[in-house]
Amino acid sequence: MIRHFILKCDHKLSNAAFGDILELIREVLPDAKLPSSFNKAKSVLKVLGLDYTKIDACPNDCMIYWEEHENATSCHVCKTPRWKSKDKENEIQNDNGKTYRIPQKILRYFLIKKRLQRPFMCQETARYMTWHADGRESDHFLHHPADGPAWKEFDSLYKEFADDPRNVRLGLATNGFNPFNSMSILHSTWPVMLINYNLPQMIMKPEFLMLALLIPGPSSPGNDIDIYLQPLMKDLKDLWEFGLET
Ligand SMILES: [Zn+2]
Repeated sequence: MIRHFILKCDHKLSNAAFGDILELIREVLPDAKLPSSFNKAKSVLKVLGLDYTKIDACPNDCMIYWEEHENATSCHVCKTPRWKSKDKENEIQNDNGKTYRIPQKILRYFLIKKRLQRPFMCQETARYMTWHADGRESDHFLHHPADGPAWKEFDSLYKEFADDPRNVRLGLATNGFNPFNSMSILHSTWPVMLINYNLPQMIMKPEFLMLALLIPGPSSPGNDIDIYLQPLMKDLKDLWEFGLET
């Protein structure tokens, strides 16, 4: 199923095309246990920890409808309504026949805890998660962030964290890109990526970068990016304080 999703992304297949190919495979392999539709295939990914949650947001980047504001119907700063319109025309039906209104803006948060557990669940990648502590050549050259003074300074400040090499050190990066592949459209989307610094040279390979948040445009959130980082920060603080057994 994952290979099928990769093909979908690589060749820009529509959801319908994905479903039709799935139907063909099911026809050829009647005994294979395969999901019957695109939406059912998505639930396979959820089980694997590749899930995300959607959090509604104010279109002016003032707030997200999260925690104590989860059920609010308008922005508590600029009073902009949460949904595009109150009339029935702007309601859409989901697969279960339930109707819901279209939010003005949606933040996608890729649950970080499950993502951080994944490299430890595979023998090959689990080995690399302690590479920064036990796999490195030590000379006086800077090969990896672990050789730098910032890393060493951090270790001396947080000894308890540094004592267990399995603790994950993350870098956070963000930049806008135009999802429609056309520079004449000003809309941009802001992905927030996490970089796993425990790993050796493969650090920047796409398969080891973790997408944490997808902030929709049309324009840059600028300093208001803090608003969108809240769910990620909450989980990271939780991991810092309590950790997670895998
Ligand atoms: Zn607002």
